[in-house]
Amino acid sequence: MRQTKQKETLEEEIKKKNTFFTAEDFFKDIQKKKRKIGIATIYRFLNEKVKKNELHSYSCNRRTLFSTEKKTHAHFSCEVCKTQKHLEIKNVDFLKNEISGEVCHFQLDITGVCEKCLKKEKRF
Ligand SMILES: [Zn+2]
Ligand SMILES: [Zn+2]
Ligand SMILES: [Zn+2]
Repeated sequence: MRQTKQKETLEEEIKKKNTFFTAEDFFKDIQKKKRKIGIATIYRFLNEKVKKNELHSYSCNRRTLFSTEKKTHAHFSCEVCKTQKHLEIKNVDFLKNEISGEVCHFQLDITGVCEKCLKKEKRF
């Protein structure tokens, strides 16, 4: 009985999420509601939702992000200074022929040397 109630609360709260969030963010939302739900239950709930394809997961800066919508997530990382920039990439149509199946969401990690570091290199 208690578990059903917990699940209802979690389902209700996750519907309000429209940006990327971490398990900790979600845990804080639940705490604000004065609900006693442990972080382990939160993790379990989120992972189950990912398995059911109702939630999408991304990895950002060694953290796992979730989204209720099929958002795209792309990074450009500098190999020299390790700074990371987010990119707006709307589609991966150029990969259509490579993928036999349906794309749900995607994450891209592009590595290079940032402008700042390129300028520094030129000075030597
Ligand atoms: Zn997905
Ligand atoms: Zn990111
Ligand atoms: Zn750099």
